[in-house]
Amino acid sequence: MTHAEPELPPLREVIAAYELRARKSLGQNFLLDLNLTGRIARAAGPVAGYRVIEVGPGPGGLTRALLAVGAEKVIAIEKDTRCIAALRPLAEAYPGRLEVIAGDALTFDLATLGAGPTKIVANLPYNIATPLLIGWLSPVQWPPVWDNLTLMFQKEVAQRIVAQPGSKAYGRLSVITQWRCDAEILFDVPAKAFTPPPKVTSAIVQITPRAAPMAAIAQADLERVTMAAFGQRRKMLRRSLSGLGVSVPDLLALAGLEPTARAEEIDVAGFCALAKAYAGLRETG
Ligand code: SAM
Repeated sequence: MTHAEPELPPLREVIAAYELRARKSLGQNFLLDLNLTGRIARAAGPVAGYRVIEVGPGPGGLTRALLAVGAEKVIAIEKDTRCIAALRPLAEAYPGRLEVIAGDALTFDLATLGAGPTKIVANLPYNIATPLLIGWLSPVQWPPVWDNLTLMFQKEVAQRIVAQPGSKAYGRLSVITQWRCDAEILFDVPAKAFTPPPKVTSAIVQITPRAAPMAAIAQADLERVTMAAFGQRRKMLRRSLSGLGVSVPDLLALAGLEPTARAEEIDVAGFCALAKAYAGLRETG
């Protein structure tokens, strides 16, 4: 069943009327192409019956698309007060379906929303994209409150998220994402699709939680071992892990890893084994 969509002014008019000159400090690169915002919204999969959290709605291009594809409710968190005023007519055009929260997404606690089918869809401000992602990936309870994340990153960051062992892009972000999630790049978005265009190509990444983590470990332990190993990624593990404060030969033996291996060669399951061994040795040591 299709519903008639409300008549809305073109986004360029909204930008002009509310004087939304893009601010670099807020990572503002707007998407004005309705085909593209529609494609991103559809990439999130079914949204009927879901609340969709959007970080940084800006003038509201992606927000409109999410509402048009049938999101039951869009909760949009925006730091720029100019944009909050610009979104008011959109909230009025979709009564009860758009809630705009004025604030900083970095300090917004998803838990305050309570349970309920949730997806997160955003064209992220690049300067805070990685800390936002790490925050969403880090709840103690798993699976998390969200069913999937459909997010725009700089392509280079997208490649780090999905990277496999043996590649240059493989690192902490790959391991921290993949021990509890599947991640894939859905499509690239060229710089010229944005107003103003950024310097780099972007990509849409979809992240879906695994029903259970790859291993029963604490994320803090996984962060410690990946930080040590990738902090000195050219060194062999017997050297790079020496700052962890536990016996490195015991650690590697317990994890079943070769002392001469380098971080880049260890798969995500290997890092999980390392985190588990590290936790055990710290307790007994
Ligand atoms: N969604 C819009 C689009 O696709 O055209 C705008 C995307 S723009 C890349 C990023 C948006 O995030 C901007 O509207 C910016 O004001 C907002 N923003 C930046 N930092 C933020 C923060 N800490 N919390 C919430 N929103 C933020």
